[in-house]
Amino acid sequence: MDRLNAHGVNDGHEPIRPGWRCAACHDDWPCLTRQDELRTEAGGSQLELALLMARYFGEAMNDHPTAMIDVLYARFFGWVRWRNWPHPRKG
Ligand SMILES: [Zn+2]
Repeated sequence: MDRLNAHGVNDGHEPIRPGWRCAACHDDWPCLTRQDELRTEAGGSQLELALLMARYFGEAMNDHPTAMIDVLYARFFGWVRWRNWPHPRKG
């Protein structure tokens, strides 16, 4: 991975902590642009994407220990298309 992440130099749509706003467009992070980038970073795998977001979610929880967990959850996972996940037990 040659791209700097949230812990490196800010090169675009990275979160400004602890507010978790996008450095580029000042939207709630991840903004739409960053969501696309994260999908690419995850290689099209929703599992990879979920694991990636779980890490950011944990960091956001550390930054906001008193935040409403459902608000953070919606922000970090609401755009991940859970319903398209495979259902192993189906059929
Ligand atoms: Zn942005």
